[in-house]
Amino acid sequence: MANHRTQVAIIGSGPSGLLLGQLLTNAGIDNLIVDKASKTHILERIRAGVLEKGAVAMLEEAGVADRLHAESLHHDGIALAFSGRTERIDMASLVGQGVTVYGQTEVTQDLIDARERTGAPAFYDADNATPHDFDSNRPFVMFSDADGNHRIDCDFIAGCDGYHGPSRRAVPDNAITAFERVYPFGWLGILADVPPVSDELIYANHERGFALCSMRTTKRSRYYVQCPLEDSVDDWSDDRFWDEIRLRLPPAVAEAMTIGPSFEKSIAPLRSFVAEPMRFGRLFLVGDAAHIVPPTGAKGLNLAVSDVHYLFEGLREHYRDRSDVGLDAYSERALARVWKAVRFSWWMTTMLHRFPDTGPFGQRIQEAELAYLVSSTAAKTALAENYVGLPY
Ligand SMILES: Cc1cc2nc3c(=O)[nH]c(=O)nc-3n(C[C@H](O)[C@H](O)[C@H](O)COP(=O)(O)OP(=O)(O)OC[C@H]3O[C@@H](n4cnc5c(N)ncnc54)[C@H](O)[C@@H]3O)c2cc1C
Repeated sequence: MANHRTQVAIIGSGPSGLLLGQLLTNAGIDNLIVDKASKTHILERIRAGVLEKGAVAMLEEAGVADRLHAESLHHDGIALAFSGRTERIDMASLVGQGVTVYGQTEVTQDLIDARERTGAPAFYDADNATPHDFDSNRPFVMFSDADGNHRIDCDFIAGCDGYHGPSRRAVPDNAITAFERVYPFGWLGILADVPPVSDELIYANHERGFALCSMRTTKRSRYYVQCPLEDSVDDWSDDRFWDEIRLRLPPAVAEAMTIGPSFEKSIAPLRSFVAEPMRFGRLFLVGDAAHIVPPTGAKGLNLAVSDVHYLFEGLREHYRDRSDVGLDAYSERALARVWKAVRFSWWMTTMLHRFPDTGPFGQRIQEAELAYLVSSTAAKTALAENYVGLPY
């Protein structure tokens, strides 16, 4: 058995674990990261791409935003397509800010590079990572790898291990409450090296189902269509995908779309999930370990970052100021912001997707809501305020 000692043991090397680790390292607080996946696998995962201003500020604070500033795209608005028309929501003029488009893969790469520069420890390919005794003053994490069994004694455990990770599952059932909505459809997403059809994202409501035109760079497009949960990527040839997405877009947008071979194709189920509370003694749940949102509001990664903000502030106060006020308030502060993003993501999903019971009446209601939305400055402002991100 190899024994390790650190101040904060972090389970999970996704954006939340890596960002928390970087902020702690910069603040002189020891931390150790354990992930079950290989570094290569983590760096190849294709996920989110829209960053709120607050998330960019956190990456700046962590000292990992140089490449982001050099390579990211800034978007001042989004478009809503419905009833054969496309209407722009000018977020910059409505709420004075926009969003940054920079792939989660790039964020992860920047954070891993920064961690390697500092020499802070991380274990990849780690099996059976489990938090123990977090209701006592001596919590520890156990895991095993090719070298055998490891034990990490620590002051605190950060459960940054995603929806399927071990941290939330280690909490006794009677200490945690889960709130969940599973949506009866998924998103089929592709990546293709073709120029995006628009400079900004287009969210499309159509009676055939939702579609989203997004991008990673000015040369790489990320497109999605709503699909049945039972579908597999084998059901979707590139030709079928391009035909379907163009049918769901206004004719002018469909005609302008450049098509080409995809190099990544995947189907993601959609779910809203929140676990309460987010703290159990010396175990803190962070990011997807505590909550999941459907990607329609572009909030998953951003919520992981805002959780890290609250937890890092609490940990820094604990070590620097010998105050636990921030740690004691972590769950309440994080959940207050989480639920607003859960509501926004649910609302966008409900307004834009075809549900089994939508029918002709539901379709007209969605179109009326969208028509009202784009005609009302108050309604557009509410959307823009939430889309660019509520304050921390
Ligand atoms: C397929 C997919 C597509 C997505 N698309 C979007 C999108 O378009 N827009 C958006 O805003 N959000 C999207 N999201 C959500 C967004 O990617 C997440 O909110 C974000 O990754 C959360 O970061 P995290 O660090 O909390 O969790 P994760 O990124 O899930 O990281 C968790 C880490 O924990 C590790 N782990 C898991 N189990 C163990 C274990 N037993 N032991 C040790 N380590 C473990 C994992 O390997 C992983 O590295 C998507 C998510 C998925 C899964």
